[in-house]
Amino acid sequence: MTRSHTPQVFRFAPSPNGYLHLGHAYSAILNYQMAQACGGRFLLRIENIDVARCRPEFEQAIYEDLAWLGLTWEEPVRRQSEHFLDYAKALDRLAAQDLLYSCFCTRGDILRAISAKPDWPRDPDDAPLYPGTCKPLSNANRRDKLAAGQHPAQRLDMEKAIRAVKAPLTWRECDVAGTEQVIPARPEFWGDAVLSRKDIMVSYHIAVVIDDALAGVSDVVRGKDLFMATSLHRLLQDLLVLPAPTYRHHDLVLDEAGRKLSKSRDAKSLRALRQEGLTPADIYRKLGLPKVATRV
Ligand code: GLU
Repeated sequence: MTRSHTPQVFRFAPSPNGYLHLGHAYSAILNYQMAQACGGRFLLRIENIDVARCRPEFEQAIYEDLAWLGLTWEEPVRRQSEHFLDYAKALDRLAAQDLLYSCFCTRGDILRAISAKPDWPRDPDDAPLYPGTCKPLSNANRRDKLAAGQHPAQRLDMEKAIRAVKAPLTWRECDVAGTEQVIPARPEFWGDAVLSRKDIMVSYHIAVVIDDALAGVSDVVRGKDLFMATSLHRLLQDLLVLPAPTYRHHDLVLDEAGRKLSKSRDAKSLRALRQEGLTPADIYRKLGLPKVATRV
């Protein structure tokens, strides 16, 4: 009720590192139809900070595939690669609160540090939690490593960050029926997460919270695979004094083996299905989504 005067803002935020598959189509259509149903706005964002893996032809294919599905979105589209300065500023704000530290470790260094500890905890992406090797480095040590040409990542000091949060950290999760639930955030599951990668000086987690806030996204509708990431996003929103959207983590489209579709496992792309002769109506039917959204 309180949100009735400002249109709700939804977004679909794919990475152009492969062709879209049915899982992406489901998320995109759901966002589009939810926006339509409440007279809200639908934005498309191209998440291409990983410049080595993202390719222009995949980006072009995103526009073509979504248009084929009958979706329209606002222009201009925000392309993350054009906004590194926004992310750098956010990292500066965290650094000014003394919440970041440089980490020079490679993956191999981390694996070696935990090799004698088989039960070492892992983060929700199944990577080992950072054992804190670089945390006690003195400024002189850091300067030496920098002088030797080593590029550090920047990690969030999770303990300090959690201490800096004033109120209990939660988010509003909305289910299919539209019922809201308050979920307690558990950012500690991520440990000292990398917020600025060695290679691209930013991370998905920073870019996503900055972009959602700058675009005024009110409703983040995305797959259940990102449910745990929301804890970290809520922490960053709190530390950077950004508004908290409402979240809805939808079911994932699964393959015949019951696994989530994934570009890396070569899930069949929308364009391959199109080449096989499927129509947009077939895709909507396969996904169990109505073809035309009703405006209310
Ligand atoms: N770019 C992410 C993906 O393709 C989605 C990020 C999000 O919706 O927050 O999985």
